Amino acid sequence: MDVAVKNFPGIVKQMPGGSFVVSSVDDIINWSRSNSLWPLVFGTSCCAIEMMAAASAKFDWSRFGFEVARATPRQADVIICAGTIVYKMAPVLKRLYDQMADPKYVIAMGACTISGGPFFYNSYSVVKGIDHIVPVDVYIPGCPPRPEALIHSLLELQRKIRNESIASPGRKSA
Ligand code: SF4
Repeated sequence: MDVAVKNFPGIVKQMPGGSFVVSSVDDIINWSRSNSLWPLVFGTSCCAIEMMAAASAKFDWSRFGFEVARATPRQADVIICAGTIVYKMAPVLKRLYDQMADPKYVIAMGACTISGGPFFYNSYSVVKGIDHIVPVDVYIPGCPPRPEALIHSLLELQRKIRNESIASPGRKSA
């Protein structure tokens, strides 16, 4: 059995002249969505360099279906926030998030995005955690996290999406 058939959600029965599949709508939709995530990249400082590396030839996140990085929220379903978020920037981030179509996801990459990082203390301008602005689906700790960590977080997001239900988005399917 080839890899594509083995990874297909549901039961694939081979028979002479073809095969048939038994599955659920949830499994098919989640499988399709999780394998075609389009990221909106929101890189503000050093973590963004690691994010760029994840998309480059050496790490190549397109191997997993995250290839089409967008520059507009209307064509993206996951926003990757990589770097320090300052209060001046917070309304812009919120607007971008609001302009993304549902269902949408957020990845917080690096200590600065998660908590303010080294700027947690003695800074008047840095937001102490992106979750004060938008809901976060996957956190990537580190300063900076490596590209492998970003790819791992996207795989974790895929796993999360595969457990959703179209009847109640964000919840595990029955
Ligand atoms: S977590 Fe570290 S590497 Fe990432 S933006 Fe902050 S200071 Fe830079």
